[in-house]
Amino acid sequence: MAGKDDTLSTYRNKRDTKKSGEPSGGRRKKDRPLFVVQRHDASSLHFDFRLQVGDVLASWAVPKGPSLDPREKRLATRTEDHPLGYADFEGSIPKDEYGGGTVIVWDTGDFENLTERDGEPVPIEKALDAGHAKFELHGEKLAGAFALTHTKMGGDEKNWMLVKVNDDQADRRRNPASTQNESVLSGRTNEEIAEGQG
Ligand code: MN
Repeated sequence: MAGKDDTLSTYRNKRDTKKSGEPSGGRRKKDRPLFVVQRHDASSLHFDFRLQVGDVLASWAVPKGPSLDPREKRLATRTEDHPLGYADFEGSIPKDEYGGGTVIVWDTGDFENLTERDGEPVPIEKALDAGHAKFELHGEKLAGAFALTHTKMGGDEKNWMLVKVNDDQADRRRNPASTQNESVLSGRTNEEIAEGQG
């Protein structure tokens, strides 16, 4: 873990990223795809969960946000792929625009695809096409393995389910989606952005 992150130590020592608003770099590594969870305070509050698949971000809207409790099954509604550059977007979308409201980067980092079939690794793109993917997140708030499953609940093709896999990162007490509202990039909350402090 330490080796590659150390290349950012100079960057970090030169600035307080919570004050400057610049990316902290987090645990993102170039040799691994990234994930991002954006807290989007739009007409209804939700968390946009995105996984890098090639050069786009496959995306789901999770109304309650991800949970670290394996007993919690979180509805995840598939939405349109977003460009990679969206991964560090924070700001205010005008009220009369699509998705009008504020966006912060609630968590981000890299992820490792763990999906297997008959003991063989399945690329993330194929896993999602087949309706089931398992992956390990390396974020600040979210860590450990999660699974996304295409449930089509209620007959709706857009419906998936996001669940924490029961591993040693599972935590039934911590509930970051309700207790840690700030951006991991800038420290700002949606409310601060709405008030123009961003
Ligand atoms: Mn959204």
